[in-house]
Amino acid sequence: MRLILLGAPGAGKGTVAKLLTQLDGSVQISTGDILRSAVREGSDLGKKAQGYMTRGELVPDALIMGIMGERLMENDCKSGFLLDGFPRTIPQAEELKILLEKLHITLDFVVNLNVPKNIILDRLTTRRTCSNPECQAIYNIKSMPSKVEGICDKCGSPTIQRDDETEEAITKRLDTFNEQTAPLVDFYNNEGLLLDINATSSDAVVSAIRERLGS
Ligand code: AMP
Repeated sequence: MRLILLGAPGAGKGTVAKLLTQLDGSVQISTGDILRSAVREGSDLGKKAQGYMTRGELVPDALIMGIMGERLMENDCKSGFLLDGFPRTIPQAEELKILLEKLHITLDFVVNLNVPKNIILDRLTTRRTCSNPECQAIYNIKSMPSKVEGICDKCGSPTIQRDDETEEAITKRLDTFNEQTAPLVDFYNNEGLLLDINATSSDAVVSAIRERLGS
């Protein structure tokens, strides 16, 4: 499958993408994960991106398009992909459209995850992520805690709260989303590609996507 997952931070894009990869070998491409690993490695990209990320702002479009232009040409994308956190601005969406045309790739559709703001705020402040870059399993201290507090079930590494999951950064990320990313819903609606889903459980979201795919 070839899908874009749209939704505010904390709407569940990453969790849904991980579930979908298990269905048919499509790969999850998360620009947030790519940027976080660049920051950890201290690469040029990471140095350029870090300040924006900590402040809850978007990284400049040119940097993101540089990453995605290369990533979509990698071999593993041939079995399908789930774009998680990209595009996030109208210019990114317009450039992606041109890029996909050039690569002769057709999207199935664009999923918009509608989740109420109070649920999003609660999820983000209680989310914990495995600190092992190879694992990055996601937990929630209220609804999906790890078996041993602070330790990842899958790999045994410590689970952590991300730098951009402080209340201040979360508020800023939600404002950024409303200003710069929410307009993509209209953009993809006009393209005839939008699938709006009002569901808070990731299993219900996956079912709605499968139904639309006819799988
Ligand atoms: P995420 O994990 O998707 O919430 O991304 C974490 C941070 O990475 C965001 O708050 C942005 O600073 C940056 N980021 C991720 N994807 C993009 C994108 N497509 N465009 C601009 N910045 C991005």
